[in-house]
Amino acid sequence: MILLKDGERKARKTHTCDLCGEKIEKGEIYKFAVYNSSGELLEFKNHKKCDYVFGELTLMFSDPEDVSTSVFLEACDDFTEMFIGGETDINAIYEHLQYFRLAKNEKMPWKLYCVKR
Ligand SMILES: [Zn+2]
Repeated sequence: MILLKDGERKARKTHTCDLCGEKIEKGEIYKFAVYNSSGELLEFKNHKKCDYVFGELTLMFSDPEDVSTSVFLEACDDFTEMFIGGETDINAIYEHLQYFRLAKNEKMPWKLYCVKR
């Protein structure tokens, strides 16, 4: 897949997040990316938080180019089980990851953990 264009947009209508499968509300700022996949144009729309979480959890995916909603949510479940506990909540994961980022201006401990496994 070749990335043609990406960035942020304000939703003019309701969309579905390609990562978590939940609604992107009208008026919400979301992330988009357009790819050329063997001549076919593919467009992805993600919540900003999901996009951030996806970027940070990349090492948990065997092929990040091929992530579906179920694969994404599974990685979120795994992360929650390892570091947060309780029900999986993307907002909680987002805050957790940001806390790591702020607390340590280097590789996050869980990333090292994932690499070592
Ligand atoms: Zn989402």
